[in-house]
Amino acid sequence: MLALDAAFGHVWAKRETHLVRDLLGTSSGDKIAPRPDGGTTEYSRRSRCGTAKAAALWITTRSPKMSTMPVLEGGCACGELRYRLTSAPMFVHCCHCLNCQRQTGSAFVINMLIEASRVELLAGNPTAVRVPRDEGRLHRIFRCPTCQIAVWSEYSGRSEVLFVRAATLDDPARISPDVHIYTRSKLPWIALPASVPAYAEYYDTEALWPAESLARRKALLG
Ligand SMILES: [Zn+2]
Ligand SMILES: [Zn+2]
Repeated sequence: MLALDAAFGHVWAKRETHLVRDLLGTSSGDKIAPRPDGGTTEYSRRSRCGTAKAAALWITTRSPKMSTMPVLEGGCACGELRYRLTSAPMFVHCCHCLNCQRQTGSAFVINMLIEASRVELLAGNPTAVRVPRDEGRLHRIFRCPTCQIAVWSEYSGRSEVLFVRAATLDDPARISPDVHIYTRSKLPWIALPASVPAYAEYYDTEALWPAESLARRKALLG
């Protein structure tokens, strides 16, 4: 059962496919039923292991969070620069390091880690600015050429992954941090929620990221 599920389902974390029962080769087509919560339940009959004879009934449920999730869009202050994320980010950092504090002039930065290919530029052309960091790694911040608002960053020349600044979303409340990092320099008056992991410095990606995000990262960086 698990092997079959792995073969056919779980492309997204919130889409689940279950084998309900084996059928005896009859087929009456697929059916998609709406659910009261706004999601859908799809009943489909298809063969197991590629054989037409051994049909099976499968149920795929899609939660409303995934199926009706509005796209994440954002931009700069003057409106010249607009972007859209074509999927949820892989992971969201809230970074309390001194570099991020200095660069934002604030207590922390909220970065959405996402494939550059999933950041669709709708308008404008961000300008890259090279910014010094304490440890000497290359860090480029991409800004609107007119109002100079920073929309995302790129670290160590790895242009495949962007760190998109979550507060430039039209609705920043849509995103909340998956982890707090470099809390050693967290400003003392900030109280972190107990429900979100927090680390004095960095963390073990393999231990913390969901499997789906790790697969995306592997596809990107190898
Ligand atoms: Zn602008
Ligand atoms: Zn930082």
